[in-house]
Amino acid sequence: MYKIVLVPELKVLLSRNQIAQRVTEMAEDITRDFKGQSIIFVGVLKGAAIFLSDLARQVSLDATFDFIGVSSYGNRPTPAEDPAGHAAWDSLGEVRVTKDLDQSMTDRNVILVEDILDTGLTLNYIQKLLLAHQPRTLRIAALLDKPSRRKQPIHAHYIGFAIPDAYVVGYGLDYAERYRNLPDICVIENP
Ligand code: 5GP
Repeated sequence: MYKIVLVPELKVLLSRNQIAQRVTEMAEDITRDFKGQSIIFVGVLKGAAIFLSDLARQVSLDATFDFIGVSSYGNRPTPAEDPAGHAAWDSLGEVRVTKDLDQSMTDRNVILVEDILDTGLTLNYIQKLLLAHQPRTLRIAALLDKPSRRKQPIHAHYIGFAIPDAYVVGYGLDYAERYRNLPDICVIENP
């Protein structure tokens, strides 16, 4: 008997050139908005690492970095394992910190850098955590936004691209830890 194995198919949604151009524009917006001030970028591990490194290098301000690690409680079930039939990437709603900030955000201009804004649960959780530090300002920079999937409202000041409801990989985004190093952002089919 043969076992049917589906080979994942990657289709480019956003090319490296489109990403580079938009990241440059976002960096110009941040440079303009915080002119004469210093900022701290807080990247959400691991997906935002590549976006943060490209964005930060194009911002002409006095800037430092920190990183926060979060994960949803439990593993996200695959559709086959999940009786409710949720998509494999559905947030489970409960977030826990796996790597805390190294420093206080009190009185700092904080730019929270995230790869993708999906249901909004993760960023709402991190935003509350950062606001407890009483930063001078807190702004969110998200490279991608899937507005159709939102479960909790959240306002991101800097958004790269609004995209449809599809699972994307590349430019820091993974599927089971793979594909983060793809230079383009691709839709993955048959993962
Ligand atoms: P939220 O809490 O907004 O639902 O989830 C945000 C997180 O879900 C992202 O930081 C990312 O880890 C993950 N995520 C949501 N959509 C996608 C996607 O299309 N591709 C990948 N690789 N991760 C996603």
